[in-house]
Parts: sequence; C-alpha cells; structure tokens
Amino acid sequence: MAKKELTPMMVQYQKIKDQYPDAFLFYRLGDFYEMFNEDAIKGSQLLELTLTNRSRNAANPVPMCGVPHKAVQNYIDILVDQGYKVAICEQMEDPRLAKGMVKREVIQLVTPGTQVDVGSENAKSNNYLTAVVDDQKNHEFAFSYADLSTGELKVAKLTTQAEFVNELVSLQTKEIVVDTDLPESIQDTIQKLGILISHQSVLPVNASVSYLSQDVDDDLMKRVVKLLLDYIQATQKRSLQHLKRAVIYEPSDFLELDHNSQYNLELIRNIRTGKKAGTLLWLLDQTKTAMGGRKLKQWIERPLVNRKLINQRHDAVAVLLDHYFERNQLQDELIKVYDLERLAGRISFGSVNGRDLIQLKASLKQVPKIKYILEQIADKSFEAMLKNLVPLDDVVDEIDSAIVEEPPISVTDGGVIKDGYNQQLDTYRDATNNGQKWLAELEAKERKITGINNLKVGFNHVFGYYIEVTKVNLDKIPANRYQRKQTLANAERFSTPELKEKEALILEAQEQSKTLEYKLFVKIRDDIKKSIKRIQDLADAVASIDVLQSFAAVSEEYRFVRPTLTTHHVVEVKDGRHPVVEKVLGHQQYVPNDVNLGEDTSILLITGPNMSGKSTYMRQMALCVIMNQMGCFVPAKQAKLPVFDKIFTRIGAADDLISGQSTFMVEMKEANDAIENATPNSLILFDEIGRGTATYDGMALAQAIIEYVHNNIGAKTLFSTHYHELTVLDESLKRLQNVHVGATESNGELVFLHKIQPGPADKSYGIHVAKLAGLPEGLLHRANDILTNLEQQADKEHQTASAPKQAPQQAPEQQTSLFPLEQIDDKQAEVVSQLKKLDLMGKTPMQVMNQVYKWQQKINGD
Ligand code: ADP
Repeated sequence: MAKKELTPMMVQYQKIKDQYPDAFLFYRLGDFYEMFNEDAIKGSQLLELTLTNRSRNAANPVPMCGVPHKAVQNYIDILVDQGYKVAICEQMEDPRLAKGMVKREVIQLVTPGTQVDVGSENAKSNNYLTAVVDDQKNHEFAFSYADLSTGELKVAKLTTQAEFVNELVSLQTKEIVVDTDLPESIQDTIQKLGILISHQSVLPVNASVSYLSQDVDDDLMKRVVKLLLDYIQATQKRSLQHLKRAVIYEPSDFLELDHNSQYNLELIRNIRTGKKAGTLLWLLDQTKTAMGGRKLKQWIERPLVNRKLINQRHDAVAVLLDHYFERNQLQDELIKVYDLERLAGRISFGSVNGRDLIQLKASLKQVPKIKYILEQIADKSFEAMLKNLVPLDDVVDEIDSAIVEEPPISVTDGGVIKDGYNQQLDTYRDATNNGQKWLAELEAKERKITGINNLKVGFNHVFGYYIEVTKVNLDKIPANRYQRKQTLANAERFSTPELKEKEALILEAQEQSKTLEYKLFVKIRDDIKKSIKRIQDLADAVASIDVLQSFAAVSEEYRFVRPTLTTHHVVEVKDGRHPVVEKVLGHQQYVPNDVNLGEDTSILLITGPNMSGKSTYMRQMALCVIMNQMGCFVPAKQAKLPVFDKIFTRIGAADDLISGQSTFMVEMKEANDAIENATPNSLILFDEIGRGTATYDGMALAQAIIEYVHNNIGAKTLFSTHYHELTVLDESLKRLQNVHVGATESNGELVFLHKIQPGPADKSYGIHVAKLAGLPEGLLHRANDILTNLEQQADKEHQTASAPKQAPQQAPEQQTSLFPLEQIDDKQAEVVSQLKKLDLMGKTPMQVMNQVYKWQQKINGD
C-alpha cells in the first residue's frame, strides 16, 4: 500500500514497525495490543487468534489481530519460547488528553535470551544471553554471558571453536549477540544448535553500565561485554542496576568437560527424554530454594580444580552430615526463602509488586535463623557464606512498616500501604471511610422517610452512587425528593444533590489515595533498590548453603563417602557405584566395583560380554570424579582420588547431532580431541573405540590409540573393547592392565555378574547375548558353527603371527580384490583417483553423499 493511503495511525505503526523488522510488534490500542499485516497473519496462527481486518471496506483492508493487555504476558511467552522476538509498543500519554495521534513508543523488546518472566517450572534454571566477538588475526574469541533475571555477568577468552561450542551447549543459551558476521562454520554450528543470532551495532558509551566492565582489562573481552550490554540496553530500555560487575573466568579454572561428555554422562539432561529425571542433577537435587537449584546446576557443569576449594566444600558437607537435626532445621528454614536473586532483578526493573516485597521480607526474616543454626555447628568452611548472611534489618523494617501483609497484585489500585504509614494517606482513607459511613446512614434515613425497606444505596463505575428503588415501590417516593439517574428492568436509580456532592468527595479521596499509595510504593521500591547488591550477596550465600545441605542429604541417603584428595597420581575406589543406575535398579541389585589405578598404571583395558556393565563401570568412574570435584561426597565405600584437569569421553553410539556427523566420524574426532588435549592429569574414557568401522581397521586403530595414550600421554584411561585380541597388549605396554567383567554360564545360559575382575575375559559372549535377546534357535546354532570354524582358523594363523599385528595388513588385500584396477575405464579410474584423495574428515555426510551421487552419474554415463 502506498504511504499516502495509510491512515495516520497506520503511518505511526509502520514507522515503528520499520525499526523492529525481525520482531512481532504489539501495538497498544486501548485495552488491546494489536498486530497488523504479516505480524497479524503469522501471529494469529501461532497464538490461535481470530484474524480480522481493519478498515474492512477500504480498498486495501489491513489484516489484524489482538490480545487483551491484561493477558499479554502469556502471549509474549508463547512467541518468545518459540524463538521469536516481541516489541511491546505502549501509549506514552493518556489518550483522553492527547492532542492528535497518541504518542507511542516501544518500551521493551522481549527476546529468547532476555526473557525474565519465566514460569515456576524454570525456577531452577538460568536463562543466559550470550555474546561473542572474534579476533580472526589471533584466532581468539571473547565470550560473555548474562542472566537478566539474576544479574549474573561473566566473560572469558576462548581459543578454540570447540571451547566456544562447549560454552554455548553447557549454558543452554537460546540467543547469541554478534557485532560482525562470524565465520560461516561457526554460524552453521550455532544454527544447528537452534540458537537465535541477534546483531547489535555499537552504541555510545553509557556510564550507567560501563562500570560493569571495570574489572576487565583485555580489549577483546571489554568489547564483548560492551556488545552484550549494548544489546541489553537496546532491548530492555529500563534500569539494569541489578547487573553484577563482569567476572572473568577461565575455562581452566574448572574441570574441562566437552559438550559430548556432558551429554553422554547425562549430567543435566537425560539422553532419551531430554529431561532432568534419570540424570546426576536429578539424583543430587535436594535443594530447597530456586537459587540453590540453579547453583547446583552450575556446580555440576563446572566442577572445580582447586584443591583447597574442593576441600572446603567437602568440609562443609562433612559438618552438615554430622549434624542431622541442625540440617533438618536448616532445610525447614531454607524452604521459606523465596527467589532472592530474581526478586532483586524485579526490584531493579521496577516490576515488583506488594506481594514480591512481602516475599522479600519473609525471606530476609529467615536469615538470622539460618545464620544461628550455622553458627552453632559451623567451622571455617562456612566462613565466606556466614560473612554474607546479613539480615538487612533496614529493608525488613521498611517493608514491615509500609506494606500490608496480604497486598493485591496490582500496585496502582490501592490497598498496598499500611494504615499509619503516611498521614496524608490516612486522611484520604478517613474521608473515604467516613463517606462509606455516611452512605450507610443515608440508606437508613431514606428507608425511614420513604417507608421502602429494600431501598438501597449502591455504586457503579458509569453512574457513580445512586439510590435504587424497585418499580413496585416507586409510588412511595415523596414528590420531588429524588432525581432520576438510570432505569433498569424492574428498578429505578436516583440521585440527590447531597449524594452528588458526597460522591465527588469520596471519589476524589479514593483517587488521591490510590495515586499517593502508588507514589509511596515507588519510593519504597527505589529505597530497596539501593540494597540490591546486598540482597544478591545474600542470595549467593543462601544458594551455596542450600547446595551443600543438598550434598549432605544425598550423601546420607545414598551412603556416599568423603573422598581423600591425593597429590599422587593414584586412583583407589573401593566398592564404587554408579549412583543413578543404582537408584534406578535398587541398592540390592547393584554390584559395586573397585577402580584401582596405581601410579604405575595408566590404562585399564576392560573386556567382557556386551551388556555386562563395561560402560556403566566407566561412567561410574567419571561421575565419581565429577562429584568429587563439585565438592560432593562420592558413591563408594572408600575413595582416594587425584584432582583431574580434564575428562574426555567416547561413550555411547549416538551420532553427533550438532555437527551432523556419522558415528564413526564422531568417534574418531573425539579420540583425536582426547589425544591432542589430554595431559597426564586427565581422565580418558574410551568405550568400544573402533567399533564403528570394519573389524580390522577398527582393531588396528584401537591398538594404535592405546599405544599412543600409553606412550605419549600417560592420562588415566579406561578403555573397554570387544576386541579380544587387544588383551595381549599387556605384554608390551607396561602401564596397561587387563580387567574384565565377569560372566558365567549356567546350563548354557549366560549369567552376568557385573563384577570387575583382574585379567582379560576368556571368551566373547556375543552369541549368548543374542540368545538372551531371543534370536531363533536355528540361527544361533548356525552362528555357533561359524564361530567354531573361525576360532580354529584363527588358532592356525596365531601360530605364525599375532592377530593384532596381522589385522591391518589384511584389509587392503580385501578391498582391492573387490575392484580389480586393470578392468576399469578412464572415467572409473578418475573416480577412483578422486575417491582416494577425498578428505573424509573435512566433509559432512551430506557432502559425501552429493559427491558419491556425482561419481555414480559419471560412471553410469548419465
Ligand atoms: P556394556 O557396556 O558391557 O554393554 P552396560 O554398562 O551398558 O554394559 O550395562 C548393561 C546393563 O547392565 C545396565 O543397563 C545395567 O542395568 C546393568 N548393570 C551394569 N553394571 C551393573 C552393576 N554394577 N550392577 C548391576 N547391574 C549392572
């Protein structure tokens, strides 16, 4: 539609919409937020609204749909949860007083990363907005993230793309802010992760937020913090006083765990369901506050590497574990603490109401009780937390003197401030109350005069106060006593000059009282704003205490023990368990296992039938290390552990959904990641490596990897394999030990013992597992025959050379015989030559497929 045909309102709409092309514009029109044009068409589908037209009879009607302003939050949440942005455009002046078009402005842009009004189901999760800038010259990234609801702000320097992806995945960010275009490969990854990319141009320096980066010296990190803050300012357009100063972190301050390990070990999310149930978080979470829940998640994602800090947490858990009654009391008090971090956020945004302040008061009142309990039992391990447990009596007193105990949700309709808090307010209230009394007296007086017993004095918003008389009684009213106001089906409503006068007084008093109440409320809110930093420190202390009591509670319930941290490179776990599998199976069913890796052992080569528990054993080890370094006790009878710097895993057969790579490619990449980055202080878990390819090259690779780790890295490594042939490696590799998971046969049936025993397994039990799985009897017989043949053949070969050495040599022979080169034509030869050169590792499966398609066309002459 040409601009000149637009109504003035649509001109205004379009001007605002042009500034927010990638957002739904919610345009305030009276009691509704309206959407127009494409927004209306798409919005009506997503929100299941009726699509109508504005100026229906005009040549170009405008598609439109709307949502009531009172329910707007719901609709915003639906859109933002689906990854869209919503620009909220308000009327900036009272339409009754406006001359010409009402002034309108966007007051906030709600985006997936800046959404703060999260429902209760997300109370224990953070919503992180992230930003990245890259310095291509030096191959560095600066990365920053913030949670707008809690005020947390962090920044780091990352050197590899893998580190960057790890941060994105572990933070579960929904939105990332960039200033220039990122390299294509990174953009690709971000998109595959389903993260929204938002662009932000540089804004002028704003002193009210620039102090947040004053502890950051590095230019690249400064730039990324500014970028993040610019975006937050541009979208939020409101006070950000609760944002904390940016804290620099180094990924190496924490135990390094890549995103695949986090995923495979099911720390936070269940692989199958994507939910919390069945994860380590699920098992450990007995936190009583939302803040504690979020902190626990952060501790699981970032276990420590600092021995002193780990020990401090262990000390605290030990104290709490020893004091059962005090711990129970502590839990009872913690449960009454509301989400202080998010309350602080709302105070800063100016969106708290009376109920929030009552929650704040109730929470603050818990502080002395929590402090008292800890002081009775605590030692040095609680020092830092106790220092921050300041009750903020001034805030409690202010709320206590001003806010009623059960305030309404609205802060503009009155009823929030206590009597006696403000003299002027009391005067207005007296006037209103006297007015009410006067009305009651009026009703009694008029009933007496007229003799009409059901005469009543009432009020409605349109007509004000009235005297109502039913039709049958109308003739009893003395002449000229009342003036008619409104006629109903079976009654008439009247007024008198006296009533009118009183009405004006009452309504004015009510109006003034509401306005004054709101003013007082805002003043209290602003006063409390000054205490935001103290509230946040307090919240942090309460959250840590909550996590530690949760550790103590689970340690008691599941019989975890305090590990000893060794400075030697020794792992000694006695009767270790996988805590989640144990919980699911039941304590009686679970078979505990030792892990012993002395200073002179770096690799355990684990053999045993499928389904016997190899993978569980390895995961158990990883969880034990993670729990230890989070500061929790561990599922074992006794444990001696060093502090690991990194964990690498290749567990599970899941394809890497993020990069779209095949299982084998992922397997090799993960192996490579470990080989390149592991140190002697790392833990490596390789589950069935080499399984994803043909037997011989798989086995050859497995052997070569074991040798490499053994000779060049020295990291503690658990390597499970079904390649029996590899067990002879203990003869040539000094620091490799064979263990196996025991199984026995009873009446031709396989019985898993789930028990780790020294030495190699003596047999591969694949056919027995197939039997357990119910494969037909005839088929199993045939498999047994084939196995016997193969074993006899292998025995013969074994007399001349050992199998692992021979294995890789056989593979090329098999392949060439499939494709005798002398019989192929030029085209085929060209394809073969291209095939040889194809850089498999650098291609996605789709690219490989396209290439194969082209070759096929070439050979077939299409
Ligand atoms: P593998 O890696 O050898 O194929 P898994 O570790 O996947 O075997 O274990 C298979 C199943 O065996 C698990 O799902 C679990 O139910 C059971 N299991 C494993 N370890 C134990 C154990 N220590 N005690 C009891 N059951 C176990």
